[in-house]
Amino acid sequence: MAGHPLKKIQCESIARTSGKQCRAKGYLKKSGHYRCRFHGGASTGAITLEGKLIAYKNLKQFKNYTDEQLLIWIQNKLQKSSSV
Ligand SMILES: [Zn+2]
Repeated sequence: MAGHPLKKIQCESIARTSGKQCRAKGYLKKSGHYRCRFHGGASTGAITLEGKLIAYKNLKQFKNYTDEQLLIWIQNKLQKSSSV
């Protein structure tokens, strides 16, 4: 095994298949737990409006939308999610 196995900090997740702790290397998350690349959920998606626009543009259901229509759609979606 490469690196320093004794110094490795394991992921704290429990695997569903074996019921044992995940053996992959863990990284400290904002929640204070160590999670590996499989259990981390590191990505929270695009944050800025421009980033969201690029991300949604790639979806099939928006292929006929212009940028402005898509921006309006995204802003409506943000308002809905923040009000709930
Ligand atoms: Zn894991």
